[in-house]
Amino acid sequence: VIMMGQAEHSKVTTCAYCGVGCSFIAEMKGNEVVRMVPNPDGRANQGHACVKGRFAWGYATHQDRMLKPMIRSRITDPWREVSWEEAISYAASEFRRIQAKYGRASVGGITSSRCTNEETYLVQKLVRAAFGNNNVDTCARVCHSPTGYGLKQTLGESAGTQTFDSVRKSDVIMVIGANPASGHPVFASQLKRRVREGAKLIVIDPRTTEMVKSPHVEASYHLKLMPGTNVAIVNALAHVIITEGLHQPAFINERCDVESFDEWAEFVSLPENSPEAVAEITGVPAEDIRGAARLYATGGNGSIYYGLGVTEHAQGSTMVIGIANLAMATGNIGREGVGVNPLRGQNNVQGSCDMGSFPHELPGYRHVSDTTVRSQFEAIWNCTLDAEPGLRIPNMFDAALEGSFMGLYCEGEDIVQSDPNTQHVTAALAAMECIVVQDLFLNETAKYAHVFLPGSSFLEKDGTFTNAERRISRVRKVMPPKAGKSDWEVTMMLANALGYPMHYRHPREIMDEIAALTPTFTGVSYKRIDELGGSIQWPCNDAAPEGTPTMHVEAFVRGRGRFINTKFFGSGEKVTRKFPLVLTTGRILSQYNVGAQTRRTHNNVWHSEDRLEIHPHDAGERGIAEGDWVGIASRAGQTVLRATVTERVQPGVVYTTFHFPESGANVITTNSSDWATNCPEYKVTAVQVTRVSQP
Ligand code: SF4
Repeated sequence: VIMMGQAEHSKVTTCAYCGVGCSFIAEMKGNEVVRMVPNPDGRANQGHACVKGRFAWGYATHQDRMLKPMIRSRITDPWREVSWEEAISYAASEFRRIQAKYGRASVGGITSSRCTNEETYLVQKLVRAAFGNNNVDTCARVCHSPTGYGLKQTLGESAGTQTFDSVRKSDVIMVIGANPASGHPVFASQLKRRVREGAKLIVIDPRTTEMVKSPHVEASYHLKLMPGTNVAIVNALAHVIITEGLHQPAFINERCDVESFDEWAEFVSLPENSPEAVAEITGVPAEDIRGAARLYATGGNGSIYYGLGVTEHAQGSTMVIGIANLAMATGNIGREGVGVNPLRGQNNVQGSCDMGSFPHELPGYRHVSDTTVRSQFEAIWNCTLDAEPGLRIPNMFDAALEGSFMGLYCEGEDIVQSDPNTQHVTAALAAMECIVVQDLFLNETAKYAHVFLPGSSFLEKDGTFTNAERRISRVRKVMPPKAGKSDWEVTMMLANALGYPMHYRHPREIMDEIAALTPTFTGVSYKRIDELGGSIQWPCNDAAPEGTPTMHVEAFVRGRGRFINTKFFGSGEKVTRKFPLVLTTGRILSQYNVGAQTRRTHNNVWHSEDRLEIHPHDAGERGIAEGDWVGIASRAGQTVLRATVTERVQPGVVYTTFHFPESGANVITTNSSDWATNCPEYKVTAVQVTRVSQP
């Protein structure tokens, strides 16, 4: 419901959905939002917005919101409402009991990309300083952790290289494993506008998305590959560029590690990487691969935008490296209109990574084994830090099943619904002795919790989010926290109850501490953000007091750009006679991830369900018609959905979204994961599909 002309006051804040980070004016009447108006001065959106940001904020006042802290001794017991003090005290005493019994490393924490930078920073600080270990991870583990790894290895910084505006100067735009029309709609509009102006578009995706063909926009090339074969394609593109001499020797000699380039050029020139050889692996015609490679290398400014179709694979990190290799080889980096741009799914994926919520890195992507860095944190945090990397999320689950990880503090993340192989996750959670869930809703993970701490929505707290272009934008409290406390205050209470003092009076003081400890943030403060019109792109420091729109301009952050060979080895998920189809997953425009927010918003104008897309050929073989119920079984589990028969998917491939818990797409995804980061291979699951009667 849009209520016009009723606002009494307003505040500028930032959308809590995708990594575009649109700025909004929240129009209020008393403590109620009456309208979210896209901010014409918002640098990332310039007055534009999509259906989610504009209309899907009603979850903040939904009747499912849990507003009282609760505890229970066993997960089979009923919840008991208690005071904040009792809940926090119980959680702290349980964590200390577990550590006394099982050791210091037997507890840990998980933060979320839904949280602000300041909240995420506090959770990792609590784990490191109060728990005394590095067992902290973030839901970026399951989406863009390969981006962090791959871009750091090649370019030297775990972040996208451009502003969104940069696409206006692109001549060739390559979109890989992403459907911005659904996932990043405001950026998709900008991209399509540039294509309508004449830029060429290359789409690499197993599915015919809206980016391939939509009104007024059509891709010059759609490389419709089999899921799991990305690395073969990127190697074939590189093969064409190198063997046809389309690379940029001057850029490579001046900016890159030439020895690594020579090794890489020799590798990609091998016959196994030729378009003809790769066509057999990927199903993409060799002439299309050649055409796309020539276009990207010679068509002017070439930019690459990629999403989870790149990262959520067994070779996700390899593919990120392959993309960086392509950009460096063609000189498409270090100026406007080019670059390597991860499209971050959630509002603060970039920020949660920046804030040190990985088990091996302190804020600013500095390794925990670095004694000098650790001593800087120890001096300000007044504690001793562990030099050993901690457990990643999947390692926490494994350790729980082995009996060595028994306590978890989980803020803003529904790991039961969002992590792969649900049965494995729930078995691990059931084995733990104390799980503390801090969330808006009694989510699927809370079914395994012993302490529930009510969370606060983005409308109820101050802080910052960092979008996919490294833009730090203010989040402003427009209404009081419904449960009485903002998330950062709750984490602070828990730290104090654990005996580690935290006494921030406002999130601005947390940001000041982040700036004092993080070289890429030294110029960031709430005051500076306001002075610069509401946002700053990091790095922001003495060298770049106004922030950094384009990275790697004069030199790469690591010095010389490093090429790394990217041998293709394929997915561990093999199709067999029993599991003959490959399932891949994605999102729709009007829902968001596990749907915790969009499903609970009365003013979300579109409703839907998860469906299984299946090609007419595969549907015909199985007697499946449009709208039929189908059973989907994998090596991990099974679920039931209704079918959509469509040529958007190719024969041998099926596709679904994962927004509804009742369809449980992650019941069927497996434990297979990226070799470098353990990012789950959500995008490739071998399945069988059969027609079933209505469940
Ligand atoms: Fe929010 Fe993303 Fe939509 Fe912008 S494009 S309104 S950030 S969901």
